[in-house]
Amino acid sequence: MKFVILGGGPAGVQAATHGARLGAEVTLIERDIVGGAANLWDCVPSKAMIATGSVLSLAGRAVTMGLKPIDARLDLEALRNRVSQITQRLADSQKALLQSQGVMLLEGTASLKSANEVLVTRNDGTSYAVGADAILVATGSRPRIPSWVNPDGVRILTTRDAYPPNEIPKHLVVIGSGVTGVEFVHMFRSFGSRVSLIVSRQQVLPNKDPEVAAALEDDFIRSGVTLYKGARAVGIEADENGVAVVCDDKRVISGSHVLLAIGSIPNTDALGLEAAGVLLDERGYIVVNHHCVSNLAHIYAAGDISGKLPLASVASMQGRKVAEHVMGISSRSHRHLDYEKAASAIFTEPEIADVGLAEVEAFALGRKIRVTKVPFAANARALIDGDSRGFIKIISDPYTGVVLGGSIVGQNASELISVLALAVTVNLKVTDIVESLLVHPALAESLADAAD
Ligand SMILES: Cc1cc2nc3c(=O)[nH]c(=O)nc-3n(C[C@H](O)[C@H](O)[C@H](O)COP(=O)(O)OP(=O)(O)OC[C@H]3O[C@@H](n4cnc5c(N)ncnc54)[C@H](O)[C@@H]3O)c2cc1C
Repeated sequence: MKFVILGGGPAGVQAATHGARLGAEVTLIERDIVGGAANLWDCVPSKAMIATGSVLSLAGRAVTMGLKPIDARLDLEALRNRVSQITQRLADSQKALLQSQGVMLLEGTASLKSANEVLVTRNDGTSYAVGADAILVATGSRPRIPSWVNPDGVRILTTRDAYPPNEIPKHLVVIGSGVTGVEFVHMFRSFGSRVSLIVSRQQVLPNKDPEVAAALEDDFIRSGVTLYKGARAVGIEADENGVAVVCDDKRVISGSHVLLAIGSIPNTDALGLEAAGVLLDERGYIVVNHHCVSNLAHIYAAGDISGKLPLASVASMQGRKVAEHVMGISSRSHRHLDYEKAASAIFTEPEIADVGLAEVEAFALGRKIRVTKVPFAANARALIDGDSRGFIKIISDPYTGVVLGGSIVGQNASELISVLALAVTVNLKVTDIVESLLVHPALAESLADAAD
C-alpha cells in the first residue's frame, strides 16, 4: 500500500507513524517544519509564552507564599530563543520518530497532479511526481485576515507575529474573544501590557458554558483588561505611534498594537484538489465522511482542513483513524471518532477545560441531567499552592450515573480534564470516580467530591 501524505502537522505525522507501523509504505511531504503549524505557530509557541507569563505571575505572588518580593522581568531575546529551541527540539524528535518507523520524508510543496499522483516541488522550483494508492491531505490552516486590514507584523499582528513580537506592546487591542483571542489577552497581560479586548457578542468565549465564561471575564476585569462588548471591528488605522480600531457601532479603540484572532482558513488552495475531482465545501474545506474519506474513496482529509474540530489532538486522532482505514482495519474492534467527546482547554489563568455535554446544551436538548459542582476553595492542595480560584462541574445521567461531560476552571484544569475525558469516552459512572483511591492532598480530590 503506497500511502502518500501532504503536510506534516499532527494529522500527517500521526497518520504516517501509525500507517508505517501497520505495514504501509508511507511518504510524507512537508514544505516547512515537521510538527506543522501546531509546532511552529500555534499550540507550542503560544503555550511556551504563556508558561513564561505564568512564572512572572507566580513571582508576583511570591509574598503570598512566605517569600520576599522577587523582581522577575521579561527578557525578550531569551524568550525568543526559548520558544524557537522548544519548537526545534520537537521537530527534531518527530523527524527522528518518522525515520525510525521507515517513513520516507520529502521536503517540498505538494499538490495533486492527478487523483493517483502527487507532485513535489522543491525550493529551487524543480519538481517530480510520486505515485499513490491512498492519499491523505493534511495541510492545515492559516489565520483568517479580513479584507479591511493588512497586517504589517509591526503594529498590526496576526498570531504568527507574536512569538514574541519585536517589542512587548504597551497597549494591545485584541480582536476576537474565542479561545485564541483570550489566550493572547492572558499572555500579554501577564507580560505587563495593558490589554483591551473587542468582544463581538455579549460574552467572551461565546460557545462555552456561560458560568465558565463569566469566571474568565471576572478574572480579566480584576486584572485590568478592558472589555468592549457587542462591538465588531470593521477597520484599523495604524501609524508609527499606534493603532486605532474602528468598530461597527462607531466606537474607536486606540492602542499601541492590535492582534487579530478571528479564526482561520483552510490551506486547500493551490493543491490541485478540484482538478483531481476532490469536493470542497463553500468555505474551502474538504468534504469528508466519518472516516475522513473525501468524495474519492482513496483520498482522505484530516486535521483543520477537514472542517471538523480545529484542535491538534483531534487532528492526531483523525490521522490515526485514517491510517487504520487505509490499511483496511477500520471495521474491526476500534472506536469511531466522536467529536462530541473531545476534551479541550484554554490556557488562561485560571485555566479552563471541558469535555462532552455542557449544561446549556442539555437544557437546549431538553435532556434531564444531574449537575454537581464544587469550588477549589475547599481543596487542601489548592490552598497549599496559593491558588484556589475556580471550580469543577460534572454533568451526569440522573438515572444511570454515567458521566456525560464536565467543565473545570482552575489551575491545572488542562490536566485534570483527562479524568473526565476518559470517563466520557468509556462511559464511566460518577461512582467510579468517587470510589477511586486518589492522592491526598491533590486537586483531583475535587473531582471525586464533584462526582459524589
Ligand atoms: C494560536 C493558536 C493556538 C493553538 N493552540 C492549540 C492548543 O493548545 N491545543 C490544540 O489542540 N490546538 C491548538 N490550536 C489548533 C491547532 O494548531 C490545529 O488544530 C492543528 O495545528 C491542526 O493540525 P493539522 O495537522 O491539521 O495542520 P497543521 O498543524 O496546520 O500542519 C499542516 C502542515 O502542512 C504543511 N503544508 C501546508 N501546505 C502544504 C503543501 N502544499 N505541501 C507540503 N506541506 C504543506 C504546513 O507547512 C504544515 O506544516 C491552536 C491554533 C492557534 C491558531
